Amino acid sequence: MLPKLDENDVLARKLALIGTAKRSFDLRLQTNAGGNLSVRLACRDAIAIKPSGIGFNECTVDNLMIADLNGEILAGSGKPSKDLDFHAGIYRARPDVGAIVHVHSPWATGWASAGLEIPCITVQSIEKVGRVPLVPLGPNGGPQRSEDIVPAIEDRSVRAATLASHGTIGLGKTLVDAQYVVELLEETAQIAFVRSALAHAKGLVDIPAPASGLKHAAEERN
Ligand SMILES: [Zn+2]
Repeated sequence: MLPKLDENDVLARKLALIGTAKRSFDLRLQTNAGGNLSVRLACRDAIAIKPSGIGFNECTVDNLMIADLNGEILAGSGKPSKDLDFHAGIYRARPDVGAIVHVHSPWATGWASAGLEIPCITVQSIEKVGRVPLVPLGPNGGPQRSEDIVPAIEDRSVRAATLASHGTIGLGKTLVDAQYVVELLEETAQIAFVRSALAHAKGLVDIPAPASGLKHAAEERN
């Protein structure tokens, strides 16, 4: 028999999720009711997740939902998010992942919408993320499905991905970890854009690659 939901655990995870959602909203990584974020419970194989139609700034203890890792709703009366499927798929594939932050942040999504991976060109992005796989649109140009996204993040070294014409995904042990990843992606996307624009203004067609020594140093630390 599956363990019961522990009310104290559920409350603590919901409060953490609300705090992270507000931070994402305040940083303008996610406006309106798009994006989604979730966190794994400690008491059983289940997650707390934002429902459909609720903004990051409107998450409350009462409107967040609890689902198992097959996407079955265990608690909450809202409309389940269409993102629940890929969140559950990631948790099933990656036992090391404790939280997911998915946002439509504009700089990072701009790169993904151009069909370009965000290049990790700063010391911090090389050390903390390394590479950001880009997941193309789903069949017939539709939104990415769980089966499109999960293969891109199955490798345990992957901490982030972008979704073409859609947004970004940050993975972490905790909500704070996952939030830091999407913040770093947005920062890196902006820096990479400025770097590219200035290089082209200088007539540099082939922009020099990031120093290989940085990558080497990062690998040695991992
Ligand atoms: Zn989305």
